[in-house]
Amino acid sequence: MTESRGKLIVISGFSGAGKGTVVQGLVEKYPYSLSVSATTRPPRPGEEHGKAYYFKTVDEFMHLIDYNGFIEWTNYCDNYYGTPRRFIEDEMRLGHDVILEIEVEGALNVKRQYEDAILIFITTPDAATLEERLKGRGSEDEPTIRKRISRAREEVTLVHNYDYVIINDELEQCIEEVNAVVLTEKNQYQNRVALIDQIRTELEEI
Ligand code: 5GP
Repeated sequence: MTESRGKLIVISGFSGAGKGTVVQGLVEKYPYSLSVSATTRPPRPGEEHGKAYYFKTVDEFMHLIDYNGFIEWTNYCDNYYGTPRRFIEDEMRLGHDVILEIEVEGALNVKRQYEDAILIFITTPDAATLEERLKGRGSEDEPTIRKRISRAREEVTLVHNYDYVIINDELEQCIEEVNAVVLTEKNQYQNRVALIDQIRTELEEI
């Protein structure tokens, strides 16, 4: 069978929309490769180096930028975050679909470089639910929550750049909807050109 290059699936959403949980559910249930970002943000309780993030000092992060180690990076709420280049490229070459969970600016940056990346935005059904979830998480203080809500006000003006908007009301349903979108995208004709060419050749030979 024709091996095609893996897809890049970029998942963003307001802080508190639950996109981390959605992504976790997706990789547990389906064979996606998950990109682990680098960040200068301090670890939250329970977050492990190499799993949640690669935790870096600002100097280490700057060094990686200098060496072209990121496909994109940004400063989000006073911390740096970046997507490591090598993992993404290797996985896609192997035909694996790679999920990036990154914020809006980074997502748009990725789309500029990988135009067939699928951009999916996860939202709560409304803003009140968002605020409730941010407060309920208990891991951020009030000023940080305010900062994240004000960031959501900026992000909402950029959602029109996404290919899909999926509501995270019921977690399992949201996971299934994201997976369905990816399957649909992969079955589009332009992703099947090589396969059809191969079948055309095979048909000549039988
Ligand atoms: P958190 O601090 O809550 O883990 O992440 C804050 C924001 O940074 C989230 O919206 C998350 O998706 C985003 N983020 C995580 N890693 C990256 C990355 O590598 N690049 C960009 N642009 N955003 C990231």
